[in-house]
Amino acid sequence: MSNDPRAAVPSIALLLGDLEVSDATRGIGREESAELLREVVEDLRAAILTRANIDTSDIGRLREQLLDEARGRIVLAAAIARGGVSRRVINATGVVLHTNLGRSPLGEDARGAIADVAAGYSATEIDLESGRRGRRGEGLERLLRLATGAEAALVVNNNAAAVLLVVSAFARGGEVIVNRGELVEIGGSFRIPDVMGWGGARLREVGTTNRTHLSDYEATIGPETAAIMVVHPSNYRISGFTRCPELPELAALARKNDILLIEDQGSGYIVDPREIGLPERRSVRQSLEAGAHLVTFSGDKILGGPQAGVLVGDTKRIDALRGDPLARAIRIDRFTIAALEATLRSYVEERWRDLPVPRMLASTPIELASRAHALSARIVDRLGGDTREQVDTIEGDSRVGGGAFPEAPLPTTLVRIRPVGIATHKLAQSMRLRPLPIIARVSDDAVLLDPRTIARSEEGAIVDGVGECVDRSR
Ligand SMILES: *Cc1c(COP(=O)(O)O)cnc(C)c1O
Repeated sequence: MSNDPRAAVPSIALLLGDLEVSDATRGIGREESAELLREVVEDLRAAILTRANIDTSDIGRLREQLLDEARGRIVLAAAIARGGVSRRVINATGVVLHTNLGRSPLGEDARGAIADVAAGYSATEIDLESGRRGRRGEGLERLLRLATGAEAALVVNNNAAAVLLVVSAFARGGEVIVNRGELVEIGGSFRIPDVMGWGGARLREVGTTNRTHLSDYEATIGPETAAIMVVHPSNYRISGFTRCPELPELAALARKNDILLIEDQGSGYIVDPREIGLPERRSVRQSLEAGAHLVTFSGDKILGGPQAGVLVGDTKRIDALRGDPLARAIRIDRFTIAALEATLRSYVEERWRDLPVPRMLASTPIELASRAHALSARIVDRLGGDTREQVDTIEGDSRVGGGAFPEAPLPTTLVRIRPVGIATHKLAQSMRLRPLPIIARVSDDAVLLDPRTIARSEEGAIVDGVGECVDRSR
């Protein structure tokens, strides 16, 4: 072997032979695979030349690393060739607010509004009457006032940004008191203690995980205290021997001490969640009435709109937030404005039950069972032969997702596919790699489809998709 460590890099031909050809690389020919492989190898040779931290002494490991890297690039290139990486998919998981699948599907009006705005220019910051410059999101804010009873509103990029903005604008250099039982981490590294840090505030924890008294808050308030923050513990639930002060008690305490009461509602309820069969929760309106100065929530959780962070409160404070330089950095784009306006309009006009998210959540067990049976029968039909053993239905649970209502059971009926002659995960993978990908639940021995998150218009694509994937495996 030569002394040049670059010689340790295996040849393209050798690597190509090792590369497993799978569904994931469909759409990419051998030529293109070889080309991508060449790129990976060249990158590596260059890295070795600049003496990057690469161990060339273990050829076996180096080869595995190279193959992994090449496989990753080929899969990505294949996905792009097949029509885009971030594309529409069918969510058959039964997780309604599936963060990895974009969280909330939009209603018809919101989809139309985005398409309309995207086709040309838009009245994003113009007052059409006077022709003068207008304020971004003004219509949106009016709808939010109507929907929540708030004096004023502001919308930013997401709820994490909304919380950060409030902390940075009103508590920088000071302290924010949070109940120890509410120091949540929401998926994707949003942690309340970290947000306090980014906003330049010090976190003061009070109470214990399960019990916190008003007197705990009272004893913690000092000259440095800027705010009390109530965080909705959305993705977990502390039950049993628990206690924490009611919002009106905290509001009175905050006012007596001239500090802010902020509530991060997470999901944010415009209507009572009991109307769609979920447990009772304080609505945004009720929080404001109970005396919260500012309430923040997400646009793409239970609300069923686009990704956004909504802030509501009194005019003076919302105006201060609007003028903060950070607000400019986290402002929303015109597509979000259009989609959120359309979504809020359906609440204000009492048409919100037609939105996909409330509709999916409100689906009844009877309706879901009947849809599951029908879907299962269609799949059996499509597969032909004696496949009844392989495709049937079982009872199960859906999930709200998005960290909301972890305790709420959502009974459903699942279509269960137990493939023969192909591993369950392989079948699930080929369903994901279809032109219109189908994302299913995978258990030990079955691929499971939950009709709750499948639109009726998607059922045909599921029958065809499952049919083709199973056929190919036979
Ligand atoms: C989801 C959630 C957030 C983060 O909201 P995003 O819109 O995802 O940024 C913050 N706080 C709580 C309590 C949440 O549930």
